[in-house]
Amino acid sequence: MKIGIPRGLWFYDYYPLWKAFYEALGAEVILSSPTNKHILDQGAKNTVDEACLPVKILHGHIIDLRDKVDYIFVPRMMSVYKGEYICPKFCGLPEMVKYSIKNVPPMIDTVINFNKSRKSLMTTIYEFGEYVTKDRKKIDSAYAEALKKYKQYKQSIAEGRIPLNGELMKESCFNGKRGRKTIALMGHSYLIYDNFGSMEIINKLKALNVDILLPEMLDNGRLRDYSDTLEKRMFWSYGRRLMGTAMYLAENKDIDGVIYVSSFGCGIDSIVEELIERRMRSESDIPFLLITLDEHTGEAGVNTRLEAFIDMIDWRRKNEGNLSPYGKSICGN
Ligand code: SF4
Repeated sequence: MKIGIPRGLWFYDYYPLWKAFYEALGAEVILSSPTNKHILDQGAKNTVDEACLPVKILHGHIIDLRDKVDYIFVPRMMSVYKGEYICPKFCGLPEMVKYSIKNVPPMIDTVINFNKSRKSLMTTIYEFGEYVTKDRKKIDSAYAEALKKYKQYKQSIAEGRIPLNGELMKESCFNGKRGRKTIALMGHSYLIYDNFGSMEIINKLKALNVDILLPEMLDNGRLRDYSDTLEKRMFWSYGRRLMGTAMYLAENKDIDGVIYVSSFGCGIDSIVEELIERRMRSESDIPFLLITLDEHTGEAGVNTRLEAFIDMIDWRRKNEGNLSPYGKSICGN
């Protein structure tokens, strides 16, 4: 049996887990190709206009896989942390795919909802496994094996080995040596780690000789402690992690700048990005750059903004003794 896993959305957070799980059960796992122009164009053509860039990319990956596999993996991811949700688009994804793309093979669209009990989690895992085998002992051991792989993968990311297009980089993107410029690169993992979708932002920053700090490299529990101090609880998982990162950075101030990469059409970012920008400006003088991407964004414009941002940081370090770009130090308010 061939199971297709599209390189989009949950892929960058969970792909090693599901690959190891289905391979341990004896299935052949086929990945879609890394995102390219054709995949993006196909996705943009075959989804609703108001979808965000990552959802369009996901549709393109499903089209890339549809004639090669027996099943396509499109779980209905409601929640991966108790009391939180991911995004309404994740919740309704199987329907979006079904009604937007013709001739989609049968989907593995099991519901993932960690708002339910541990018992429900194992019921969910059996449901995923039973597409391949009814042997529950085999499913138990495949899941245990997959969890080990998943933990190793998470550890590699925490050490700065970014899974660009799904392949862990050989070296850490974070050197940690004193005196090196460090930029916190914030945004949803499935946009940042997708080389084509993010306009190669990671490679561009590396070429500009910058250390990159990602929210996934920080301790999730610590970020949660920060976000828990918000007046109103952030119940979107990605939003909570990004908000916790911003609060941590604003307090610790051990970075030179923050770049937030957002998707045009993302309802969650429209709130979270604004909250983060306000927090960075009111509680720190860390320079902040917002880059919003969609399928029409011109790469030359992104390059210019990145280069100007890094130039400005260099200039501040050399000539200004880190004066605020917002006038705080100059005006004394
Ligand atoms: S969180 Fe935003 S970017 Fe992610 S799928 Fe939802 S709308 Fe799209």
